[in-house]
Amino acid sequence: MVNNDRSIVIMGGGPAGVFTACGLVDLGYSATIITRPRPFPAWEGISERPRTSLQHFGFRAATASIGPMVTRAAHWNGQSQAQNREYILNRQTFDQALLRDAKNQGVQIIHGRVEKAVRQENGWEVSYATSGGHPHQKARIKADFLVEARGRESKLGKGGDIAEGDFTSGPATSALLKSYEVSPDLDAMTSVASFPKGWAWYLRDGEGTAILQIFISSEKGELPPKAGLAHYFSELIKILPEAELWLRGAIGRASGVSVRTAAVSKAATAGGHDFLVVGDGALALDPLSGNGIFYAIGSGLSAAPVINSLLKKPEDKELALQFYQERLDNAFKAGCLMGREFYAAEERWPEEAFWKARRLWPRGGGPSHPDIMTQPARICQKPVVKEGLIALEDVIVTADHPRGVWKIDGIPLVKLMTFPAAKKTDRETAAAFGAEAAQVTSARNWLLSRNIRPEIYEKHNRKT
Ligand SMILES: Cc1cc2nc3c(=O)[nH]c(=O)nc-3n(C[C@H](O)[C@H](O)[C@H](O)COP(=O)(O)OP(=O)(O)OC[C@H]3O[C@@H](n4cnc5c(N)ncnc54)[C@H](O)[C@@H]3O)c2cc1C
Repeated sequence: MVNNDRSIVIMGGGPAGVFTACGLVDLGYSATIITRPRPFPAWEGISERPRTSLQHFGFRAATASIGPMVTRAAHWNGQSQAQNREYILNRQTFDQALLRDAKNQGVQIIHGRVEKAVRQENGWEVSYATSGGHPHQKARIKADFLVEARGRESKLGKGGDIAEGDFTSGPATSALLKSYEVSPDLDAMTSVASFPKGWAWYLRDGEGTAILQIFISSEKGELPPKAGLAHYFSELIKILPEAELWLRGAIGRASGVSVRTAAVSKAATAGGHDFLVVGDGALALDPLSGNGIFYAIGSGLSAAPVINSLLKKPEDKELALQFYQERLDNAFKAGCLMGREFYAAEERWPEEAFWKARRLWPRGGGPSHPDIMTQPARICQKPVVKEGLIALEDVIVTADHPRGVWKIDGIPLVKLMTFPAAKKTDRETAAAFGAEAAQVTSARNWLLSRNIRPEIYEKHNRKT
């Protein structure tokens, strides 16, 4: 399939931009990423899920760039535990590897800094400064469709002419990061700890580098100017008890203290007929969740069929954008509620500004993981991804799946429920679906575990 007549430009080459671009190439489009390297050192932790996705979609270099898996020691609310595990990620190395994979998958990469994207009568014109052999050389490129993937630096969707609605943001948060030299004999590890002014994440890569990242409130005027950051950081370390052990024998590197904004946020507008905002630009989760990269990958995976629909079936624009927006709204709600529960679990400093603001934000909304039996399951029609496009299908909506579930293990649930299954084995039913018996068993188990019976289909039919 070739859709080469439409040019698609993706501004930003992090996980969201790269997965969007590769998804579009898979659908037959030509996709160009314009990106510049991350200008500061960044280290993160990821779980097994994003690693599996990278492997599954053939991102060999990115998978190979992932560091060791370590146990994360957590010191929260005066209690210590070491239950979770995470892979260590050097974001500068990881991002370069992602771009190599994208290039191998057929994406065109331009190394440059986007300066401006202007909507024209038919499409967009993007101005950028190249960062290859000719520093700061200016260039322009036309695009029929534009993808905003510049992470937290995204502009499209934040406001101005393009965006409708409100840009939503949680309490202002910044992450201060400092690198240290430590003995390479010390094992790789990560640790998280709360303290009165916020929380900290410590990492040791097992090769002589340690990172201390401190998350603090950064409402207007709270952070000192750049020249005062190093002093501010060392003052914070004094009131962070775990730092004493973490930094014993460590030598601070000359690179100083870097700052990243880290507040939760959601774009005012995530897309239109000729643009889509993906990854952190659409929805930036609290780094405390450690789910940002996983979400960014998912965002890119869902963006490709949405863009395909917008370009190929403009009559389905509302449906495609509804699919994308519901996905964002749900992830935003779940992420914020989970964050609030984490912060509320730290009860030692309820009156400290950092904790007070976060344990109450957002207001309302209930628990992050509602009991699946609190709301009866129902059938309704919702947009889903079908053969590379967004289409309406019968889905089952439950308390834990407000966007509805169309298929489990490739088996459409509503069709399975209405299949004349009397006395048929899973193997016989599977043959009718062109699937394996195990797939039918797993779809049936999903329905059974939620006590969903064929009667809900009859109820649905009576209503419609
Ligand atoms: C302090 C902090 C700690 C975090 N820790 C974790 C963690 O431990 N685990 C986790 O999973 N997630 C973590 N996250 C979240 C994670 O970093 C993001 O969710 C994820 O990187 C989003 O991917 P993205 O592709 O949307 O954006 P990004 O990864 O930010 O990619 C955007 C790309 O666009 C480029 N770019 C920006 N502006 C321009 C421009 N003008 N022109 C060209 N290119 C441009 C950038 O250089 C970058 O390469 C953390 C976030 C923060 C702020």
